[in-house]
Amino acid sequence: MNRRFRFPLSVQIIVGALLGVVAGVLIPEYAGVGQFLGTIFLRLLKMLIIPLIFSSIVMGVVNTASASSFGRMGLRTFGWYLTTSLLAILTGQLLVNLVRPGVGTDLSVAVDPVAMEQGFQFRDILINLVPENIFRVMADGQVLPIIFFALLSGYFMGRMGDGLAEPLVRVTDSLYHLMMKITGFVIKLAPIGILGLIYQTVADTGLGVFGNLALYFLTVLGGLLIHFFLTLPLLIFMFTRKNPYRFMRQMFAPLITAFSTSSSSATLPLTIRTIEEDVGVSNRVAGFVLPLGATINMDGTALYECAAVIFIAQAYGIPLSMTQQVVILATALLVSIGAAGIPMAGLVMMSVILKAVHLPLEGVALIIAVDRFLDMFRTATNVMSDSAGTFIIDHREKLLEAGKG
Ligand code: ASP
Repeated sequence: MNRRFRFPLSVQIIVGALLGVVAGVLIPEYAGVGQFLGTIFLRLLKMLIIPLIFSSIVMGVVNTASASSFGRMGLRTFGWYLTTSLLAILTGQLLVNLVRPGVGTDLSVAVDPVAMEQGFQFRDILINLVPENIFRVMADGQVLPIIFFALLSGYFMGRMGDGLAEPLVRVTDSLYHLMMKITGFVIKLAPIGILGLIYQTVADTGLGVFGNLALYFLTVLGGLLIHFFLTLPLLIFMFTRKNPYRFMRQMFAPLITAFSTSSSSATLPLTIRTIEEDVGVSNRVAGFVLPLGATINMDGTALYECAAVIFIAQAYGIPLSMTQQVVILATALLVSIGAAGIPMAGLVMMSVILKAVHLPLEGVALIIAVDRFLDMFRTATNVMSDSAGTFIIDHREKLLEAGKG
């Protein structure tokens, strides 16, 4: 037997990440190498997203036995998204109102108004859910309309008589397994890709950007860590009676990939593969809950939006009424649903909330310096929430199948 000793993937990834930090601090001048490696890794992940989302959703729905079980899973999924996003927002809101990190902030950094005017209406999200041209949305990588089309395709493939759907189902199933195989290969490159991405981030941003934003950074980070390490694990335990930290260890590769890519969408292939192959969640649940979650369930983003906006109000010395705090809560929820799973999406969307409560849009400039780092933590939290929800819903579905639900 020719068995070589190999370090587990998680150890390799940690070593890669640490080397990235060290290289970023010591030899920032060679960060181009990091960028090269990181970009290739990111492109490999992105390459898989569209075919993987499409095939995994179709197969997930085709395998869902009845319309009622589909409805039940849908309700649970949306219930999870809503509950955890609200819990996250409340955590952020509470912390930032208690710590008050914005009081006394130096406003002179906000000289360069980067106010990003963003038209955003909830109605538009609903309209854009329905693709006009499925090939165009695929080429543009718009995830939500693809999900919509895949849900319909899967549902009706399962209801076509006379074996008509069989060739389509077989091709889609085969495509799905092919994407999973390629994802398995890409995971092996994660240590190098993550090294590259972290190297580039540290070299570009430096570790000294915190300055008078340190308290703001720590407050948001504190909220994210509470949600990540306490709230979500507690919910996992409550609903499954299983050890949530074991689950988190199993999900280590996608979580740290989310951290280093700052993109829930790019991480999606790894999230799906790991939760199915390593945790044992069924494709029926993972194929539905994860792609949808990666696009609309963003606990970390919701928490951050709310905390950042209140921080900006504090920095400008503008007191917020109770009603304004409630408006912030509601718009933070909508913005987290509307934000794409790509880097800095949350920052760009923040103007929507600032407008809703009549705060200066230039306030965004105050927090830009540390946003790159916060993005890493909030993306990991987003992926953790999607994964935790998938794990719980799968557990409940299995109980039902076993007749114990
Ligand atoms: N980068 C985040 C994500 O992909 C979105 C955000 O900017 O908050 O989940």
